[in-house]
Amino acid sequence: MKSTTINHNDLYRFPWTLADNAISWLEPTSECNLHCDGCYRENRKGAHKSFAEVKTDLDVFQSQRKSDCISIAGGDPLLYPDIVELVAEIKRRGWKPILNTNGRALTEALLKDLKRAGLFGFTFHVDSGQGRPGKWHGKNELELNELRLHYARMVAEVGGIACSFNATIYQKNLEYVPGMIKWAQQHIDIVQTMVFICFRHIVPDMPYKWLAGDKEIQRSDVLYHSDRNRIITIGSRELMAKVREEVDPDFMPSAYLNGTHDPAAMKWLMTQRIGNRNRIHGYTGPKFAELAMSLYHLKTGRYLSYVAPDASRHGRRAMLLFSLLDPHTRKALGKWIGSALRNPARLFERSYLQTIMFIQPVDVMSNGDQSMCDGCPDITVHDGKLVWSCRMEEIMEFGTFLRSIPIAGPDQALRASEGPAVPD
Ligand code: SF4
Repeated sequence: MKSTTINHNDLYRFPWTLADNAISWLEPTSECNLHCDGCYRENRKGAHKSFAEVKTDLDVFQSQRKSDCISIAGGDPLLYPDIVELVAEIKRRGWKPILNTNGRALTEALLKDLKRAGLFGFTFHVDSGQGRPGKWHGKNELELNELRLHYARMVAEVGGIACSFNATIYQKNLEYVPGMIKWAQQHIDIVQTMVFICFRHIVPDMPYKWLAGDKEIQRSDVLYHSDRNRIITIGSRELMAKVREEVDPDFMPSAYLNGTHDPAAMKWLMTQRIGNRNRIHGYTGPKFAELAMSLYHLKTGRYLSYVAPDASRHGRRAMLLFSLLDPHTRKALGKWIGSALRNPARLFERSYLQTIMFIQPVDVMSNGDQSMCDGCPDITVHDGKLVWSCRMEEIMEFGTFLRSIPIAGPDQALRASEGPAVPD
């Protein structure tokens, strides 16, 4: 079996920074029509920003930060009363508008309006920790593939809009990650990206004091806390090892984003595969990612975020072009040629590009430092300032980001933060 270890120095480090990034994160509303287990935003009914306030947030992005796309999130952005106008406004300002939604409020009529307004893509959040009502209640991740397919088909039918899915990964649904990745291959023609976000919470076992400035805060005062111990240490490397074990031993990431306090952490870990529903030819390598990112930046002055579905359909062209400089892509090309020699009909099969992203949010280090994504793509605006969206509740509640201080010395803190914890 292939080694499951990976050295971050062998991958391309995304060049994203605070000032020049692929993505920025906009939250026009805090209202949601679900209550997801791992959510980091308080669900505030009717808490919509006025359109003028949202435009001011966009002004902040425009003056502070280059980005290729604006991820419109929340809350659920489809509940925002001016969502169609907002998509049009983002498009008018030259960004790609991306909707991060659970999909529940999406209708065919709204989808058509959003397309007319210039929507570039969807990221549908679907997972078993959302407490979805009705038919989906209690379904596991593989059963929820039916719902994912429903949204992917809806989007494919109107055409020209990118379709991605994300899921929060807890101990309880970790076993389904390989099955979700296999499902994505079966629908590689209409699903461009799968994102897996590792669950994080503040749990009783964490041996830290939490401070807002000099004031100690109780764990239970923080929105994202659990009263029981839960496993909060699943990371990108573990997800990658699982996929290598159960899906493909050759599964090979190409690019990453490190942690602010740990250069070897894979806070964002990207794998891109080329193939079709019958076979994966291979994986693009670090040079492919570097070329794509750099050429796009040369052309547009921005780092590449989402890719249009039309571009994802050109897997063969990408293999031919990028294999000149990227050995991993060359290997994929060789595999494709070999397979076509065995069966020439395969020459006429289309090949697609599909991205698998693992995201590993905040990690509390043994000395209490909180390691964030270095060059965070999901920075949002609060009171005119750029802040991590995953921790904005701390600013809203306490006026500052919380600090964590080890209670009993770094060594004990490290041991305790690594377990034991009860499974979900
Ligand atoms: S730092 Fe937080 S908000 Fe930024 S990308 Fe990482 S998890 Fe997302």
